[in-house]
Amino acid sequence: MIFAAGFVFVFVILLFYNMKFRDRRLCRWREYRQGGVSRWTCIHCGAETEGTPGTPPKLCLRDHI
Ligand SMILES: [Zn+2]
Repeated sequence: MIFAAGFVFVFVILLFYNMKFRDRRLCRWREYRQGGVSRWTCIHCGAETEGTPGTPPKLCLRDHI
């Protein structure tokens, strides 16, 4: 019985872990350099943002379109 409870506990932890990092996994940023700044385009959700060259955005913007 205690084994089953432990199994459920691990399952719930994994579920929360996936929810927390789901957005970051989905985003793949492609960089278009424009002088001093870069335009970053996500090839998954099509989001566009401007940022520092060489440093992709950390968050997926698919929920903010
Ligand atoms: Zn995205």
